[in-house]
Amino acid sequence: MPIDPTLPYDDQNIFARILRGEIPCNKVYEDDHALAFHDIAPQTPVHVLVVPKGGYVSWDDFSAHAPAELIAGFVRAVGTVARQLDLVEPGYRLLANIGGDGGQEVAHLHVHLFGGMPLGRMIA
Ligand code: 5GP
Repeated sequence: MPIDPTLPYDDQNIFARILRGEIPCNKVYEDDHALAFHDIAPQTPVHVLVVPKGGYVSWDDFSAHAPAELIAGFVRAVGTVARQLDLVEPGYRLLANIGGDGGQEVAHLHVHLFGGMPLGRMIA
């Protein structure tokens, strides 16, 4: 069920609980700004989610309200994860679903990192 991105941040969302260590994840990378972990229902051979360490509902909220240091740290972390997973030379895809029409289901900003196979020009 897609989320309403105009609602305030709810710190009980599943990724907030993963960030607090209340529920487990299969961690790929962590630093001061971001946590990356394998998607529970992978759509491609590599399907990793990268979330910023801060309470932001969506890309819209994050880009408008997050401090520049966190935005920079998050962007850098996404690139670090891709390099760590050896995805740069074969290539990969980044995706952020935003709001209802975007199909966003978890109300904490996350970037999907897809790879491990040729993805073509569009994702299903
Ligand atoms: P969205 O549609 O919000 O962009 O994608 C949410 C993603 O989170 C989905 O790909 C879904 O499989 C993943 N997901 C949902 N719950 C969990 C969870 O508890 N753990 C992990 N690792 N991924 C989850």
